[in-house]
Amino acid sequence: GRAKAERQKLADIVDAPSDGILTLDRSSRVASWSAACVEITGYEADEVLGLTFSELLELLQAERIDSQQHAAADRYLGRIRTKQGDARWLVVARTRLPEGGDVLVVHDDTARRSFEEVRAAQVEDRMWSDLIASVSHELRTPLTSILGFTQTLLTRELPDEERERYLRIITEQAHRLELLVGDLLSLRSLEEAGLELQIDELDLREVLEEQAAAFESQLTDHELQLELPSEPLVLRADRRRVGQVVGNLLSNALRYSPDGGTVSVKAERRDGQFVVSVADEGIGIPEESRHDIFMPFFRVEQVAGADGTGLGLAISRRIVRRHGGEMDFESTPGKGSTFTFALPLEPPNG
Ligand code: ADP
Repeated sequence: GRAKAERQKLADIVDAPSDGILTLDRSSRVASWSAACVEITGYEADEVLGLTFSELLELLQAERIDSQQHAAADRYLGRIRTKQGDARWLVVARTRLPEGGDVLVVHDDTARRSFEEVRAAQVEDRMWSDLIASVSHELRTPLTSILGFTQTLLTRELPDEERERYLRIITEQAHRLELLVGDLLSLRSLEEAGLELQIDELDLREVLEEQAAAFESQLTDHELQLELPSEPLVLRADRRRVGQVVGNLLSNALRYSPDGGTVSVKAERRDGQFVVSVADEGIGIPEESRHDIFMPFFRVEQVAGADGTGLGLAISRRIVRRHGGEMDFESTPGKGSTFTFALPLEPPNG
């Protein structure tokens, strides 16, 4: 029974020489530090012996492990930095000693973790390359119509009125192609090298003001309001791409509020992130479309005019996610929509 289980535990420990073992004494100070611990963390025993557990976590720049979690769980996952500065994922299993103190078995899970991260990235890349393959269909529709009408114009005598109608359709379709190609190029540049972000320090306030100014000339029935804090909103991000996201949201807010109204742009710092929202008083988004709205080429049917590609939001959310942020929206049909995105102060690996 119990003795056997304990023996097994011991055997598991001994059989896994790459796992580190450390013990904490009754006052939660590091009392022993095995050779494998040195191997995993880069810190020698004399650098850690006697440290309290919290001090040890601090030394290791531990993330997602804290003393509280340590007190509550027998097994947990966390990330540390080695003395050399490399990130390591650790699975920590704790056994309390009857006389007080703990034995911690530390398993280096970095290899498996990185594998899973790479695989997740591959699945996402796969999805996007499938998507790009399906794009030919989207391009073919306007092309077919352009070719058809030019052919007719070239081979038939037509009354002026009809000629003009055909030419207008051709222009419209060519314009649609231009939009599609623009968005596709934008998608493509997102794909290149897994989206190399050009990370620089920037003031989000400036980006928002620039974008708002760019839409100034398109305002007829709309009022554009900026509600920004007076202090700079400095973060590290790709300036052009963040501008593109804001531009997309503004363009949507204006296009999908045909009766005008107020479009308000807000930004604030919240929980170590910058949160930007663009709110309109437009037609809103039906609840049944909630889950599709960020899908490439998705457009709400009743409102889809000739002037959109359904790529704007897909591209925008991808940009935000690549910065380690997230995008979402709230909407009431007939009342309006608010799109919100959050950006961390610093992108991951930035
Ligand atoms: P596009 O606007 O080019 O069609 P988007 O990806 O930007 O593509 O948007 C996808 C769809 O989401 C739009 O076609 C529209 O139906 C809906 N949508 C986006 N923004 C809004 C908004 N602010 N209000 C209402 N509907 C919106």
